[in-house]
Amino acid sequence: MEIQENVSLLPLNTFGLDYKTRFYCEIHSIEDLKELRNSLVWRNQPSLVLGGGSNILLTQDFEGLVVKINILGKEIIQEDKSSVLLKIGAGENWHELVFWCLKKKYGGIENLSLIPGTVGAAPMQNIGAYGVEIRDVFQSLTAMDLSNGEIREFNNQQCKFGYRYSVFKGPLKNKYIISDVTLRLTKKDHHLNTSYYALADKFKDVESKNIDIKAISDAVIEIRKSKLPDPVIIGNSGSFFKNPIIESKKFNHILSKYENIPNYPADNGFVKIPAAWLIDTCGWKGFREGNIGVHDKQALVLVNHGGGDGTAIKNLALLIRKSVKEKFDIDLEPEVNIY
Ligand code: FAD
Ligand code: NAP
Repeated sequence: MEIQENVSLLPLNTFGLDYKTRFYCEIHSIEDLKELRNSLVWRNQPSLVLGGGSNILLTQDFEGLVVKINILGKEIIQEDKSSVLLKIGAGENWHELVFWCLKKKYGGIENLSLIPGTVGAAPMQNIGAYGVEIRDVFQSLTAMDLSNGEIREFNNQQCKFGYRYSVFKGPLKNKYIISDVTLRLTKKDHHLNTSYYALADKFKDVESKNIDIKAISDAVIEIRKSKLPDPVIIGNSGSFFKNPIIESKKFNHILSKYENIPNYPADNGFVKIPAAWLIDTCGWKGFREGNIGVHDKQALVLVNHGGGDGTAIKNLALLIRKSVKEKFDIDLEPEVNIY
């Protein structure tokens, strides 16, 4: 394991922001992790763990050690007629994993096609899209406790998954490095989920016998490409804010003024409102100031058109939060991790 100095983070964040880190290393194994914990740089510097950098906003150079997780490998650890337990290295690319599973005809993550980033980061915020979350197929993960170097396993319950949340985004934030993730995937009788409007619409004229995991993945990819900016072309970190989940009383109050407000039932009688609609209604969609702005097809995505500045994006997010608060009395919570 080699520790480098003054390394550019430009290829390591999908916002395409040109900051650098004082120290940098890549981790390829648990042994590398153990070696890292014993290094002087680790002991004396703040650290930032990165996978693909697709859920972060950097606002300055990092005066510490960036640890890039590159642990690879896929292993079937158990299999029967109907399902397979697949253990995957944290550094594997998520979307390539989805493709690999489709080739093997393993079902369960097809709705999560085209999500950037790594397998190790996927449980961090319980990645979700089109009605499926990783917790639906999650079996366990292995992680190193950074306080004592112990390697431990977390099962589904111990991760305390919630909406774009896990214990690693809450009380255990920055306390563990995830080295591998195990998923339980189906080999037959796949649970096909086309409940989201955009997906249901794609399949409205298709006979159900012709809908399979590959068709769902293709449809998800097509929908996503039509409305989401490709980070290779326009810097972004996907949805900047979570969709707020509000009390029904507050929802009814807003509904009395905005009868077209989209809404979805959440647990315990709460209501989920698309943050994109709130931001759009406040007039931000397509906003641009200099090199940064709000995407013109999806108001939940803040963008760097090139040469932008992380602090300016953070300040824009604050302005958006303020206007949503003033208009709807709703507090938007960032989904992106800001550094
Ligand atoms: P990073 O950005 O590198 O890290 C994210 C956080 O996890 C950081 O706090 C980091 O410190 C921590 N971390 C990373 N790896 C590890 C590890 N091995 N151990 C411990 N901590 C770690 N998200 C969704 O949920 N659904 C979507 O549909 C979706 N669509 C997106 C579309 C676009 C165009 C983009 C740019 C992003 C999208 N995202 C989506 C957000 C993002 O892709 C996911 O959150 C993804 O899982 C982040 O992976 P990453 O490897 O890039 O994580
Ligand atoms: P959309 O279809 O325009 O819908 C807007 C929002 O309404 C979504 O965010 C979704 O919430 C919610 N929604 C729609 N149909 C729903 C249903 N049947 N039940 C419950 N909630 C429903 O959304 P979009 O922006 O194009 O995104 C499509 C999917 O990809 C969503 O699941 C979204 O989360 C995911 N995505 C995530 C990111 C990210 O960075 N996190 C980026 C792009 C897309 P949910 O977000 O809770 O699903």
